[in-house]
Amino acid sequence: MQLPVSVLNGAGKETEMSLAGIGILTVGDLMEFVPARYDDMRLKNPSEAAHDEKVTIEGTIQTEPSVMYYGKKKSRLTFKMLSGPHVINVTFFNQPYLKKKAGIGDTVTVTGKWDRHRLALSGQVLEAGQYRREMDFEAVYLLRNAISLKLFRKLVLQAIDLYGSYIEETLPENILRKYRLMDRKEAIRALHFPESQEEMKQARRRFVYEEFFRFQLKMQALRKVIREQSGGVVQKYDLVKLKKLIDSLPFELTNAQKKAVNEICADMKSRYRMNRLLQGDVGSGKTAVATLALYASVTAGYQGALMVPTEILAEQHAKSLHDMLEPFGVHTALLTGTVKGKKRRLLLETLAAGEIDILIGTHALIQDDVLFHNLGLVITDEQHRFGVNQRRILRGKGKNPDVLFMTATPIPRTLAITVFGEMDVSIINEMPAGRKVIETYWAKEEMLGRVLDFTEKELRKGRQAYVICPLIEESEKLDFQNALDVHAQLSSYFHGKFTVGLMHGRLSGDEKEAVMKSFSANELNVLVSTTVVEVGVNVPNATVMIIYDAERFGLSQLHQLRGRVGRGSEQSYCMLIADPKSETGKERMTAMTETNDGFVLSEKDLELRGPGDFFGRKQSGLPEFKMADMVHDYRVLETAREDAQTFIDSPSFWTDEEYHLLRTILTESGVLSNEKLD
Ligand code: ADP
Ligand code: MG
Repeated sequence: MQLPVSVLNGAGKETEMSLAGIGILTVGDLMEFVPARYDDMRLKNPSEAAHDEKVTIEGTIQTEPSVMYYGKKKSRLTFKMLSGPHVINVTFFNQPYLKKKAGIGDTVTVTGKWDRHRLALSGQVLEAGQYRREMDFEAVYLLRNAISLKLFRKLVLQAIDLYGSYIEETLPENILRKYRLMDRKEAIRALHFPESQEEMKQARRRFVYEEFFRFQLKMQALRKVIREQSGGVVQKYDLVKLKKLIDSLPFELTNAQKKAVNEICADMKSRYRMNRLLQGDVGSGKTAVATLALYASVTAGYQGALMVPTEILAEQHAKSLHDMLEPFGVHTALLTGTVKGKKRRLLLETLAAGEIDILIGTHALIQDDVLFHNLGLVITDEQHRFGVNQRRILRGKGKNPDVLFMTATPIPRTLAITVFGEMDVSIINEMPAGRKVIETYWAKEEMLGRVLDFTEKELRKGRQAYVICPLIEESEKLDFQNALDVHAQLSSYFHGKFTVGLMHGRLSGDEKEAVMKSFSANELNVLVSTTVVEVGVNVPNATVMIIYDAERFGLSQLHQLRGRVGRGSEQSYCMLIADPKSETGKERMTAMTETNDGFVLSEKDLELRGPGDFFGRKQSGLPEFKMADMVHDYRVLETAREDAQTFIDSPSFWTDEEYHLLRTILTESGVLSNEKLD
């Protein structure tokens, strides 16, 4: 298979170069080159051919073929052909010589583009006599003009004839049997020369599985390496105490929370380092889960750290953790940029002495002089807000502490297990009972007056409102201008009745905090803001969320914004002001009004915008697959992942001769030498 393509007849120097240009160097490359599509070559009855489709039709010539010349070297050959009961007008452009091929009364087959309305066939190929078909389906390749389709097919056919018997099976025997997958020899042939639609499907099914399986094998091996080579701390937590804390909570944990706690605790107890992502919608109770995990760590004799992206959030978390854990004799402390001087010094001393059990804070936690006594568990909230470096520094403050990342951005499962394939993922996909659904409405711009009337009613009840300004992609300046405009408008609209605050990216950190604090204290009734307000602030008294130009936001982002309201006991509302022109735009607005489930929306977003757009172009980190499609083949991806995990975890995978070839995937990609770690 490593033979150069030049061993083939017809592949001279020039062809060899051309093929190299499209990445084909060896006979193996040639055989694995994936067709872009297949042309249906089956003989069609005119009555069943679709408009504009390429079809092959057989018939008898009814009128003498005649050629008309026009322009320079341009010609048109026409005749009428009888096919079944239909009389078809056939035209060939610029192939006058075809006239010699057939005459009136002859049977011919014509391949061309079908015009259903005019019963006309714009011919490309004319064959005399009855249809002698070789293949029902013909593979078409994207060759970028490197080489002709005809020659390419010839070479592929020759390669398979001469070297097909050397094709090695790459999937384990039991996998092939389990899913009834075509063996590799057969699948390669069927990929290029399928005898039926079914064969095409089966060949594709095999290669999709293979791609995912190989990819997941690497991911799962990496995961194993990260766990085992890092030698984490064994945290022997006190289950009885943990249960007491759970019993003391004012609510029953949801099943999803219980499952997440179990998964996290199992990791903590093991001798491997935890490397886990906890996903859950806003308000699904991640903080409660984090608190339990931190407490477990404390009962095992370790310290814990919780790092969040903003000061307000840190304060909120510190307070709720303190309230929950203080009765259990746990010492918590808050460290942010505003903790300074003597107070800070004292805090760091007690931390280093191990007298503080849990430290909550912003990135102030990762300053050099912050030293723990024995850090066992690190949790970061809204993990995408922190850079890889910041997370690593925090982790470095202990000896391989267990690490948990939390995010409220629901990532579709397919993407999560691909992009975060080397991490373990826990998902809280269930909301605590009794949560009020946020009523969501989609309003056109001309209805803004009514939206504001409604808002005023809520404000008069003492509630508060967020107004999110239009988002101008890649123009912070315009975002800023919009915020100023909207703020000015609403200030005059509510003048003398309600106060309107303003929040945008040009404010300094301190200024932002100040605005948020006065909104939080209900000194501001309305907060006009750009998307900076997105991260988990909690103002339970806010019941209205208005989003201008909502069609400019992704569904996940809209959902995040909506999650700012509905945090108290009152009914909350989200109003999307949008006038989308496209169908998908309308579909997205409708989806928002129909569901409050972040995971459903993120799947929808993925479906409507595709995987590339999901994370934004910059940091997609998505692998490329040749045949497989992460969105449409996601079930296969899941299955392949489970299978890969089973293999990686089984001792025989690492020793048996049968798996030698699979193991070379791992050695070749460098996964085993752990190059990807950090
Ligand atoms: P998240 O961090 O996922 O946004 P939180 O943990 O802050 O969610 O929980 C949001 C609110 O719901 C908090 O007031 C919390 O006390 C409450 N809560 C958490 N879990 C439950 C539950 N199982 N049942 C009822 N309320 C809960
Ligand atoms: Mg939270």
